[in-house]
Amino acid sequence: MKIIDSHLHFSNREGFKTTAREIGYLNYSASGLKKEFEQSNVVAGVIMATPDRKPYKPSGYPKEFILEDGTLDCLLSCVGVNPEQIKQNSSEINFIEEELNKNMVTGIKIYAGYFHYYVYDAIYDPIYELAKKYNVPVAIHCGNTQSSRGLLKYSHPLTIDELAVKHQDITFIICHMGVPWIMDTAELISKNHNVYTDLSGLIAGNREQIKKMQDKKLYVEYIKQGLEYASQYNKVLFGSDWPLVPISPYIEFIKDIIPEAFHENVFYKNALAVFPKMKKLIQSLNLNDCC
Ligand SMILES: [Zn+2]
Repeated sequence: MKIIDSHLHFSNREGFKTTAREIGYLNYSASGLKKEFEQSNVVAGVIMATPDRKPYKPSGYPKEFILEDGTLDCLLSCVGVNPEQIKQNSSEINFIEEELNKNMVTGIKIYAGYFHYYVYDAIYDPIYELAKKYNVPVAIHCGNTQSSRGLLKYSHPLTIDELAVKHQDITFIICHMGVPWIMDTAELISKNHNVYTDLSGLIAGNREQIKKMQDKKLYVEYIKQGLEYASQYNKVLFGSDWPLVPISPYIEFIKDIIPEAFHENVFYKNALAVFPKMKKLIQSLNLNDCC
């Protein structure tokens, strides 16, 4: 089965290198990712670009996507939004629009919780206008924040409801299924035709830690319950959150959670439907050579 990883990080920023090291990741590199993609038949991926918080720099430079040993041509990206930068620098929206015109940029990423604004705050209005204009999805970090400085009231998945109702013609992706508010996310994707979710980041850690979580039956059942309640497998995307986990064991973890009849949708087809430039990328790749 071909797989598309709809949520990963591929950043040369120090923070990611440190995180990768801390979870025991020894091969955080372009060649390391290529190897993992090949092992698991992942043919393409979507990078979630991370904007700097301070000092305020333009969000998501593509140069962020070149690690020491290069980059991969099977990757698209979502431009990361820094609302502080929007507030302070009138050219930020132009910058994001320029990004959206690039071949590799196929969506927008908002870091709710990390930035202290509700997703329906007027500060994001120009972003939603761009999403409509370019017909791209908006992925939103939801649920737990890695940093204790994050504020959960901004990242709770229920905040997406107001947004989704207001912008019926934009596709929103609740990242990480809003963990730990899995059931809230289930209700949102069930109620709103334009709300999707990705399954990245339900576990962070190495192979052994994934195995340990896999054995926590109540946690696994909880995720399954949410998915079963929603029964919207055409709106659920596989993502790994690499390098926070090795890809192959994480795929196995998700495979156990998703009924087999929906594997092709969750692991491949839904990403083709959600990310507008994905089909073209897949067509352009000689899959024997890349990934
Ligand atoms: Zn992520």
